[in-house]
Amino acid sequence: MYCQNCGAEINENSTICPYCGLATKSSDILQEKDMKIQALEQKIVELELAVQQVSRTRNRKSGITQFQPWIFIFPILFVVVFFVLFIILVSL
Ligand SMILES: [Zn+2]
Repeated sequence: MYCQNCGAEINENSTICPYCGLATKSSDILQEKDMKIQALEQKIVELELAVQQVSRTRNRKSGITQFQPWIFIFPILFVVVFFVLFIILVSL
C-alpha cells in the first residue's frame, strides 16, 4: 500500500510510514478495532455483573424453596413426638 501523506510504498502491516512518520490508515483501523474491542469488553463486564445479580436473586429464591420443607417437617415431627408421648403415658 501507499502512504496517504507522501505516497511512498510501505509495508501492508506497518502502522506508521517509515518515510514521513505519519500514521497509516491500517493503524486507524487497528485503533478503531481496539476501541470496538474495549467497548465489547465493557459490555461483557456489564453482562457478567448482570448475570451475577440474577444468579444471586435466584439463589435467594432457591434458598427459600429449600427452606420450605423444614417449615412443614418441624410441626409434623412435633405432633408425632407428642402423639407418641401421649400413647406412652396412656399405656402406663
Ligand atoms: Zn508517508
